[in-house]
Amino acid sequence: MATESLKIDNARYVITVDGSRRIVRDASILVENGRISRVAKAAELAATRADRVIDARHLVVTPGFVNGHMHISYAHAVRGIFPDDAGSPLKHVFNLQTAMTEDEEYHTTLIGLLELIKNGNVCFVDPGSTKYPDACLQAYQDVGIRVIMGECVSDREAPFTLPRYPAEEAIARTAAFVKKWNGRLDGRLRAWAMPFSADSCSADLLRGMKRVADENGTWLTLHHNSGPQARKESVARHGFTPTEYLESIGILGPNMLLAHALGIDDAEIDCIARTGTAVTMCPSTAAKAARGVRENGRMPELLAKGVRIALGCDSPNNSNYLDLVRSMNMAAVQYKDAREDMKQIPAEAAVEMATRLGAQALGLGDELGSIEPGKKADLVLFDTQRPEWQALWNPINNLVYSADGRSVHTVVVDGRVVVDAYRQSFVDEARLYSKVQEIGEALQARTGITFPRGRWPMS
Ligand SMILES: [Zn+2]
Repeated sequence: MATESLKIDNARYVITVDGSRRIVRDASILVENGRISRVAKAAELAATRADRVIDARHLVVTPGFVNGHMHISYAHAVRGIFPDDAGSPLKHVFNLQTAMTEDEEYHTTLIGLLELIKNGNVCFVDPGSTKYPDACLQAYQDVGIRVIMGECVSDREAPFTLPRYPAEEAIARTAAFVKKWNGRLDGRLRAWAMPFSADSCSADLLRGMKRVADENGTWLTLHHNSGPQARKESVARHGFTPTEYLESIGILGPNMLLAHALGIDDAEIDCIARTGTAVTMCPSTAAKAARGVRENGRMPELLAKGVRIALGCDSPNNSNYLDLVRSMNMAAVQYKDAREDMKQIPAEAAVEMATRLGAQALGLGDELGSIEPGKKADLVLFDTQRPEWQALWNPINNLVYSADGRSVHTVVVDGRVVVDAYRQSFVDEARLYSKVQEIGEALQARTGITFPRGRWPMS
């Protein structure tokens, strides 16, 4: 229930991720009208009353996590159907997605939201996968999560099934979408322009998307990768590397979020930094899809140049989890191994990308990403009464290297408790699980996209 005021009382640690990155022991947080009003030692706020008080003596509090690339309606009902020896499942995934009905998408969205919110994700970017936003609005509203959505458009042949329109029509559709949706749900819903990728969109369409974003004070996101082969093809076709091509047509800038950004070279990194472009990286997708982080992962260089980076979980058939705590772990460990250097991507950097820096990468840095007075009250309370939190000396290291989303105890969005001591009240979980299993069976039967249920014999 929404309450006028909420006090998180006597937390074991509050990881503020504020300007000086304070971690406060035995701290209390006061929330009033959806915003954080005080953060102080519990003793200082001992006399402060609130409509609801949460005893946090065994809890560690962090800002809510932002998930910068999360295909929400995508693949939940067919999660895990692709055996490792099947290679890239992308073509099948897009076909399955295209075949979804409105009712199926509503339920698969709901289960995605359930997994996200229970793991402490308070905000996510759905890069244009939702076909039926009207139906899914109810789910976003019921869960109380923040969502950044858009309509996926393209105007060129692509290797997968994508919604394709003539450029002018795609631009008009996007403008109408942004006008209809941006700012709904008390501002928890944002609408962006979402062209799929530079390969699947003409320069005219991409420029039109940027114009729609600029004119409406909103953002755009694009799937983006580079690498030796892509650079060769791009130079032959456009006279520029993939990232420099985006700059040459004028679509980079502070309201552009490039997703993945693997394989970019030094000049492309400079181009991203120079234009103030933001990036979202999906460490577990890069690893699971064998993208060669040693050669193609440039997260340390992007961070060193001051580029705003968010982390993303991508999809239940890419990473295949919706847990940003695990993504933090992957980001922190994969660069240590790739560079054979334990100093790469310290745990603190991973936490920044999941909170403060990630919120900035999504244009929400003024409102989200840290625990300090004036910010929206989006909070995650971790339960330390679990083995993986023992012993507790450095809560950042326990969070990034030992915990995962399963120790999320309570989640607050906009000052409203949406997960309350592991429980939520928006859906009957057991019924939803059987519904999603049924949807998966129906989808596979309807599309004929099926695989053996494992490489080992199953009877
Ligand atoms: Zn994507």
